[in-house]
Amino acid sequence: MKRKSSSSSHSAKTFVNKNGYRQFKDTGKYVHRHVEEKKLGRPLRPGEVVHHKDGNPLNNSPSNLKVYPNQSTHMKKEH
Ligand SMILES: [Zn+2]
Repeated sequence: MKRKSSSSSHSAKTFVNKNGYRQFKDTGKYVHRHVEEKKLGRPLRPGEVVHHKDGNPLNNSPSNLKVYPNQSTHMKKEH
C-alpha cells in the first residue's frame, strides 16, 4: 500500500476531541502545541500553555498561537 506524505493538510491524521481541540490520531498530541513547537523551534515544556488569540481552538495557524510559561499567566493575561 502506497501512502502519500503531503504536508498540505493535517485533516487525514487528526481529529477534533470533545473539548473542541484538534489532536493527532497516532500520538494524541495537540496540533496547536505541535504548530507552536515548530514556530519556536523547540519542544514545549510540560507547564507551558498555548493560547489561541482569536479564541477559536481550531484555528491552528502559527500567527494565531501564543505561548505562556504557565496556566496562571495565561489566564491572567488573556481570559
Ligand atoms: Zn487562552
